[in-house]
Amino acid sequence: MKKSILVVGSVAFDDIETPVGKRFNALGGSAVYFSLAASQFSQVNLVGVAGEDYPKAAIDLLNRQGIDTTGLEIAPGPTFRWGGRYHQDLNNRDTLYTHLNVFANFSPKIPSIYQKTPVVFLGNIQPTLQMEVLNQLPQPEFIGLDTMNLWINTTRAELMKIISRVNLLVINDSELEELTGTVNLFKGLKYLHQIGVRYIVIKQGEYGAMLSAAEGLFFTPAYPVEEVVDPTGAGDSFAGGLFGYLGTCEKIDYNNLKKAVVYGSVMGSFCVENFSIDGLLNLNPSKIAKRFRELRRLMKA
Ligand code: AMP
Repeated sequence: MKKSILVVGSVAFDDIETPVGKRFNALGGSAVYFSLAASQFSQVNLVGVAGEDYPKAAIDLLNRQGIDTTGLEIAPGPTFRWGGRYHQDLNNRDTLYTHLNVFANFSPKIPSIYQKTPVVFLGNIQPTLQMEVLNQLPQPEFIGLDTMNLWINTTRAELMKIISRVNLLVINDSELEELTGTVNLFKGLKYLHQIGVRYIVIKQGEYGAMLSAAEGLFFTPAYPVEEVVDPTGAGDSFAGGLFGYLGTCEKIDYNNLKKAVVYGSVMGSFCVENFSIDGLLNLNPSKIAKRFRELRRLMKA
């Protein structure tokens, strides 16, 4: 039986500049990217907050993809806003601003219909909010977490507390370094496994991703995209593909996780081909399956 997925994360307006062009007021946010990617596989329950300026059309769009937005609170004030400018190589970006707006006073409330959601993804938001969500859920079967340098630097103690409670951590190289204080990838992974994280997925952008577990290491390349238009949300879409696929699995184990990270790569690749969430719209199972097959073929030695 398919498992539904609960995600908590940001719901945002993004102002994005890439070498290809600019988008102002674009729909974004970690929960939105994640939900759109995951909903290609499983039913998604979204928890987050938006302001009164958030368009009804955007909520309708999420609902049309089968995403339940009962847990999306509309609060007085403006929606969270993030501005980012990408460097010429698109691997690096500068955050121009982060306006928490309605996020500043957000206290997540899990609707009763979400209580038994078996798979939970704590998207990139303040660790205290991630913890509030976790504390309201009886006993999820599988918990994933994403974070970023901002929270590693400013709320480290809270972050470490919650990390020790999750089954899977999604992180990139520089975050792993900052979190564990080691420049050696494998030492960093060992440290996180020792504090109890069963699975760690290292996102390596255009180079793909790596899954680390007691069973071994597994690498997936990124799907080769020739024109990257906007990398915003690639990490969240990756996580959405990964967790969405896990929702379809009877058992969440190393073998299924290997396939899940390949689906993550596939969904990340669709995301970067267009601005904002546009690359995640108009997808279907056969487009996804085609990229999955191509990636698997690339991996055969
Ligand atoms: P990614 O490119 O996968 O890191 O995700 C980018 C998305 O994360 C954008 O749509 C932003 O709105 C959102 N975002 C950026 N900074 C933050 C933050 N500090 N907290 C929550 N969401 C954020």
